[in-house]
Parts: sequence; structure tokens; C-alpha cells
Amino acid sequence: MADKIVIVGAGVAGVNAATKLVDNGFPGENITIIDMGKDPYRRPYSEVMTGFLGAGGWSDGKLTYHTAIGGHMSKYCGEKKAMELFDEVINNFKRFHPKPEEVQCSDPQAEPDFIKPYFGLRLFPVWHVGTDYLHEIGKNWYDYLVSKGVEFIWETKVTNIKFDVQIIITDDSEVDNFTIEYDRLIFAVGKSGIDFGKQLADEYTLPTEPKPVQIGVRFEAPQKHFQKLIDISYDFKLYRKFEDKGVSLRSFCTNNNAAYVAVEETYGDHSYNGHAKKDKKYRNDMTNFGILMEVQGIDEPFKWSRDLVSKVNKEGTGLYYSPSRRPSTTSEGENVSAVTISEMDEVREAFQGYYTYIDDFIDDMKKVFPTLEDDWGVYIPEVKYLNEEVKVNSNDLSLVGYPNVYFAGDSLSARGISVSGAQGIYAVESILEKFKEEEYIEQGDIINW
Ligand SMILES: Cc1cc2nc3c(=O)[nH]c(=O)nc-3n(C[C@H](O)[C@H](O)[C@H](O)COP(=O)(O)OP(=O)(O)OC[C@H]3O[C@@H](n4cnc5c(N)ncnc54)[C@H](O)[C@@H]3O)c2cc1C
Repeated sequence: MADKIVIVGAGVAGVNAATKLVDNGFPGENITIIDMGKDPYRRPYSEVMTGFLGAGGWSDGKLTYHTAIGGHMSKYCGEKKAMELFDEVINNFKRFHPKPEEVQCSDPQAEPDFIKPYFGLRLFPVWHVGTDYLHEIGKNWYDYLVSKGVEFIWETKVTNIKFDVQIIITDDSEVDNFTIEYDRLIFAVGKSGIDFGKQLADEYTLPTEPKPVQIGVRFEAPQKHFQKLIDISYDFKLYRKFEDKGVSLRSFCTNNNAAYVAVEETYGDHSYNGHAKKDKKYRNDMTNFGILMEVQGIDEPFKWSRDLVSKVNKEGTGLYYSPSRRPSTTSEGENVSAVTISEMDEVREAFQGYYTYIDDFIDDMKKVFPTLEDDWGVYIPEVKYLNEEVKVNSNDLSLVGYPNVYFAGDSLSARGISVSGAQGIYAVESILEKFKEEEYIEQGDIINW
């Protein structure tokens, strides 16, 4: 009899985990996925973080193909295995894509001379799925899992998990709250559930590894200023490091052609990210990317970031500053939610001296891209909440002390689609091994898997 598996979070990690299981003969009827968002047929564009495929469902659809970025995979399973897992994730996105032939990999090679005096450039391969296809991919993928018998429970928030008695508890403020038992649990709540992960880590005093602060702004400007670099590297990553100060900066998640700034909501505050659409009808010839700063040596980095984010939220949303431009619209033609400010004093104060590094980054971009001048704006803040990472067993991502509870995706150490999906798949491989062994014993015969 196969174990009862409950997956909390129908995001990239949870969905890839379930797919790996059913693809290998694990009975879908024994898998339940609970998510506080909606299925892909009912999920509106405004729900950026929750629902089928989670934050990956309305993301920029860029699947990085290198172990040095997007979070940790190779530290658990080694380089070769990590790349194999990335292949599986990319193949899943292609498999449910309405036009798989359009999924292309860009692989820039040479670092151009003109940026060298001011920036380094990180080059790595990226697969482009396209934001506007994610909706269709989501529906096809969902239909497949449902056809395999996987049970989905939507619009239901899990509020607690009892590791000792193996039950999960859903929102108990509603009349229809309920509990579910599990044999194995995959915890994959992504960034929208980051506080839940912390709650469990505190409740069960799970061993954790501290993480540095990663915070900055989402920078936006007409694409023409960056075209020379985009021609070499679509998702360019400019970086610089101040080793003696414990500070490094990088441009992060560059969107071009049909590039839109997206609002994220975490802990009730707004921060920014971006996405790009593939369909030509959305073309706006804009570029946006994060300018993210990693600061080492801050006491309680998580609390520090959260305090900073709430200080730069006004009237329930983030801030926009530009020397010359107005905030942009979303791909649906609505204004990107932000309060426009004309002075940066309050922002500088909130960043406690660290904003100078972002000022310098922008000043140096003006030198490298001379037409840029004052033709840009910043949405404040962009933040990567790197919660303390729970310690897991490397062979299957199960919790140290709770071998039937697995953490995967942004809840663990991922920061992107490829690593999140890969962690979901990796976590269930050991479950599959056990399942195969039991099937083998039950059937008393050799099965070819
Ligand atoms: C606008 C945007 C653009 C992005 N673009 C890219 C990109 O181009 N490339 C890239 O690699 N990465 C991108 N990312 C990041 C990427 O989407 C995430 O790293 C990835 O989705 C993480 O996968 P996950 O499964 O860990 O979490 P998610 O995909 O976020 O899924 C988590 C799921 O858990 C559910 N959940 C949370 N808490 C609970 C709870 N208590 N009870 C029930 N359900 C819960 C949520 O509803 C959600 O559906 C982007 C993110 C955003 C927001």
C-alpha cells in the first residue's frame, strides 16, 4: 500500500514533485495537494503569488540552467545530478507548453569590454518559456495531474502541522476547517508562506543556517539604453563586490521587450519584481531588473529586511522615484501600485547608509550606457527574504529529526523555478524508491521502472 502524501503548496516545487510521482506509477489517489490560491482556470492575473504553479505561474518564465544561480541544488546532490534535475523541470514545462518549439535556450559566452571598468558580468544559460504561456501550461499540467487521480484542495490555508501525530490543520477561523493525516509531507509553500516556515522552525526548534540580507530596488528604463548589452546577454547580470564592506550588488532577473513591473505581497507589505511577456502584442520596449544588494554581518537579517520594507511602504504600497519618468502600467493597462516620491531622503534613511551603493550602481550604469542619463525610475523595495534555512538531510531534503517531512523550493534554499522544481523532484525520489521496493515485494516479480 503506497504512503499517503500531502503536499502543502501547489507551486513549482509541489507540482513537479507530484508529477515525478505519478509519472513513475505512484497512485495519484494517494496524493493530496493543498493550496491557499486557485486552480489555473480560476486564478486571476492579480494573484501573483498563489494558486497552481505558485509564484512560478505568473513569473517571467525564465528557467536558469546553471547551478551557480537560483538557489541551492548541487550542495545537496552534486553538479551532475543537479543538472539532470534541471533537465527534468525544463522538460515538464516544455511538455505542457502549447508551443514547445518556442522554448529556447540563450547561452551568452563573452563578457564585453565596454562594461569592464565598472561591472563584472555573469553569464549563464537560460530557457525562456514566456509569461503569457504559463497560463496554458498551468491548465494542461493541472489536467494531467487530475487525470492521474491527484486530489487538489484549493483556497485553503494550512495554519499548522503536527509533525509528531502527522496531521495538518487548515484555517481554523472558518467553519469548514479540517485536518488531514499524512504518512509523508512535502512542505513547499514558497515565498508567500515564508512566515509559516518560520513558525514551524520556531515551534519545533528546527536547526537552521542564517542567511544574509538581500534587498534593493526594481530599476526600469526604456530598453534602447541597454540594447548593446541585451544583444549579448538577454538576462544580463551586472555585479560588483566590496569585500572589505561585506556588500555585493547585482542586477537581478532582467526583463526586456514586453517587460512589466510586478507587485509582490509578503507579510502584508508590497515589494517589486518583474516579468516579461512573449506575445508581440504586449511589446512595450522597456527593460526592468532588480538591483539587489547582499549585506553580510547584519544582526537578525530577516528582521532588518522586514523593518526596512515596512518603512518604505506608504498608504499600503511601495514607492516610486524617478528624476524624469512616471510609473508604468501593468500588461493589463493598470497602474503599477506605488506612491510616487520626489525626494529620496526617507528611503536613504530606511536603508541606513546602504543606499549609497545603489546610487553608485546607477551612476556607473549612466557611464556604461551613456544614453540612459535621467531616463529611468526605481520601484522601492525589491527584497529577497532569505529566511534562516532549515537543515535537511542531503539525500532527500527531509528534515533533520523528522524523516517523513520534506522541505522544497523557496521554503528551503531555492530562489527560482529551476531549483524549486528540481528540489521537489529530488525530495520524492526516495519515496519512489521505497514504493518500488514495496511493489516488488508485493508482486513477487521484477518490474521494469
Ligand atoms: C513576479 C515574479 C516573477 C518571477 N520570475 C521568475 C523567473 O523568471 N524565473 C525564475 O526562476 N523564478 C522567478 N520567480 C521566482 C519563482 O517563481 C519562485 O522561485 C518559485 O515559484 C518558487 O517555487 P515554490 O514551489 O517554492 O513556491 P511557489 O511557486 O511560490 O508556490 C508556493 C505555493 O504555496 C501556497 N501556499 C503558501 N502558504 C500556504 C499555506 N499556508 N497554505 C496553503 N498553501 C500555501 C501558495 O499559494 C503557492 O501557490 C518569480 C517570482 C515572481 C513573484
